[in-house]
Amino acid sequence: MPPVNVVVVGAGIQGSSVALRLARRGVAVTVLERAVPGAEASSAAGGILSPGVEALEPGPFHALCRASLARYAAFVREVESESGVHVGYRRLGTLEVALDDEHARLLAARAERLAAGRLPVEVLDEAAVRRLEPGLSPAARGALFFEDEASLDPRALGRAVYVAASRAGARFVRGEVRRIAIDGGRAVGVDHASGRLEADAVVLAAGSWSLLVEGHGLPPGAVRPVRGQMAVVDTRPPLLSRVIFSANGYVVPRPDGRVLCGSTMEEVGFEKAVTAGGLRHVLDVGIEIAPALAAAPVVETWSNFRPASPDGEPILGEGTVRGLFYATGHTRNGILLAPVTADAIAAAVLGEAPPVDLGPFSPARLGAGRGPAA
Ligand SMILES: Cc1cc2nc3c(=O)[nH]c(=O)nc-3n(C[C@H](O)[C@H](O)[C@H](O)COP(=O)(O)OP(=O)(O)OC[C@H]3O[C@@H](n4cnc5c(N)ncnc54)[C@H](O)[C@@H]3O)c2cc1C
Repeated sequence: MPPVNVVVVGAGIQGSSVALRLARRGVAVTVLERAVPGAEASSAAGGILSPGVEALEPGPFHALCRASLARYAAFVREVESESGVHVGYRRLGTLEVALDDEHARLLAARAERLAAGRLPVEVLDEAAVRRLEPGLSPAARGALFFEDEASLDPRALGRAVYVAASRAGARFVRGEVRRIAIDGGRAVGVDHASGRLEADAVVLAAGSWSLLVEGHGLPPGAVRPVRGQMAVVDTRPPLLSRVIFSANGYVVPRPDGRVLCGSTMEEVGFEKAVTAGGLRHVLDVGIEIAPALAAAPVVETWSNFRPASPDGEPILGEGTVRGLFYATGHTRNGILLAPVTADAIAAAVLGEAPPVDLGPFSPARLGAGRGPAA
């Protein structure tokens, strides 16, 4: 019997997207969120949707990222029309720019591997890349261009998905889940501050905090927080159009001229802070990519935690506890992977064949007792 009553732990982009899919299939979904829906990692992201830069080699992870990118335009249409919230989706492509000879050699080798795997990539020379982005550093030697990639505003997306899921019937409740209730090897609900909420299935989507929920059933180190800091500078008129990576980080231009400069990858536990060193790093990245950013005012800064798995790939599907499903460990690509995660986890919960093979992303790959990787 497919479940009729599902509890989702956490209302980040994963929990809200899975709730949307399940609610639209007629399932009674309750999402428990201990703070504000979407307020953690999902609001801190740059909103880059880039399999080309983030999933370096052809393989199951690259395929998962591309399957999610392929779903994005329809996902955005759906949540925008159901919520009335515009999410700023722009399909202008992603550039990875070489600012020195060593990075240029590295990019050339990667372009060959991607092309051999029949994955879409265009190699641009110096003149071509400057035609696309005149604000780029004069040091730019050339770039890889991933033409079909996109970016969006993740805060708006989180809000849109939350509103769309609520309108589809998902119930969002404020509450901190303490443990997954398990009976006879099966998840039967969750325990939170005001008691037990019974369910036919539970989806753990608590991001970096997933291992703090008792009864999570994952091996030690399966998910850990990796802090990322971000600074936003304001350019008027807009200096850049598309997402641009260098070897050290990236910039994400918004259409109004703001440019996000990111990010750091820091192993500092749950210490949420914007630091002098972090800010220096992300601003250096921005100025290295587009030197004119040095004159732009800094208008916002923040930090939050990527839910990092040991191999940087998400943890998806059912584990050893029946009825307990995972939508966590999305590390650097949780915004990109939200649409495919929602479709795949909803299918798994409903006992249907997921649209992508979840085998490579099963918690079993992490093995009991394997510690975190760098
Ligand atoms: C600086 C930075 C830049 C990034 N840039 C990008 C990018 O450009 N593109 C991209 O694809 N990804 C990016 N990411 C990664 C992306 O943000 C994450 O992978 C994604 O947001 C994870 O979503 P989530 O729903 O799993 O986690 P979260 O958004 O953290 O949501 C988890 C939720 O669970 C709640 N919760 C936790 N424990 C409990 C509990 N016990 N009970 C109830 N609720 C609980 C939390 O309050 C939180 O709201 C970036 C991340 C950072 C930090």
